[in-house]
Amino acid sequence: MDNRQSTGPGGESNGAWVIDEATCTRCGICVRACPEAVVALEGGRLVLARPEACTYCAVCEEICPVGAIALAYAIVWDEASTESHGDR
Ligand code: SF4
Ligand code: SF4
Repeated sequence: MDNRQSTGPGGESNGAWVIDEATCTRCGICVRACPEAVVALEGGRLVLARPEACTYCAVCEEICPVGAIALAYAIVWDEASTESHGDR
């Protein structure tokens, strides 16, 4: 079993961050931007091809034009900037 997990309708997650597939336009920008080739377009949908390789650099989250990728630690930081989560 790989460590891909469904996060609801069309969502994909490695447990630490989530792709909102309802929002994702499959533009492929994050696929090209990810330095570790973690995200990939497969069969017309965005998947975590190598979730174990993610360095949580947040490049994908920052570059996505529609905000479809959310790193969990970034959301926590955004909502409560006093909290620091080192969780991966
Ligand atoms: S956080 Fe960085 S390494 Fe992980 S999927 Fe996004 S761009 Fe790739
Ligand atoms: S950059 Fe955003 S909209 Fe484009 S494929 Fe990646 S998650 Fe989807």
